[in-house]
Amino acid sequence: MDDLKERGETLVEHLKSQGLLKSPEIIKAFREIPRHLFVREKDINHAYADYPLPIGYGQTISAPHMVSMCTEFLEPKKSDKVLEIGSGSGWQAAILSRLVRKVWTIEFDPFLAEFARRNLEKAGVKNVEVIKGDGWLGYPKKAPYDKIIATCAVPGISRHWIEQLRDKGIIIAPVGGSWFQELTVGRKARGKLKTENHGGCAFVPLRR
Ligand code: SAH
Repeated sequence: MDDLKERGETLVEHLKSQGLLKSPEIIKAFREIPRHLFVREKDINHAYADYPLPIGYGQTISAPHMVSMCTEFLEPKKSDKVLEIGSGSGWQAAILSRLVRKVWTIEFDPFLAEFARRNLEKAGVKNVEVIKGDGWLGYPKKAPYDKIIATCAVPGISRHWIEQLRDKGIIIAPVGGSWFQELTVGRKARGKLKTENHGGCAFVPLRR
């Protein structure tokens, strides 16, 4: 256990030295949410390596550097309502839970929705709700959101997400093909989304 804690600390220091983790609150959230609670038992020894890991059903928990970047780009605020598309292991949602008011996270695969719920419970996270469904449609029931993050690759930003985003809100999504995407950060102003690309990335594709 001490060994895992030490490896977690080494990973945080590595992400800081790379300039990927910057904000003190985000660094604190990374320290408080142990990644090893979000991987499969057999992968525990790899939990603090900076790469994605399989979580079953052909899906992965994202690499720590990617979760650092996405979390920083989202500019999380204590008052934020956040929508995530693609719960997977629940780790990204758990990190956000420390930084915002509430996270609604949608997962397409019923087994992974359950996996995420269990992991969040193990980590003692209370302000994340996992919903089984098709995230392409967003989650109109709790809209508008201050921030929206997609952790599966999409061909373009869903119009449902733009509709459900509050004015001045931020969206992050990997936009592109099945193998390679651009990490896209969008800001809504007067009903329209203005986007910027922040480099290449590789997420698993959204399924419908
Ligand atoms: N954020 C996750 C990583 C997610 S991997 C983590 O921290 O571990 C992408 C996830 O998106 C997979 O679990 C996949 O099942 C899910 N997904 C794919 N298509 C989806 C859709 N239409 N709606 C919601 N989730 C979807």
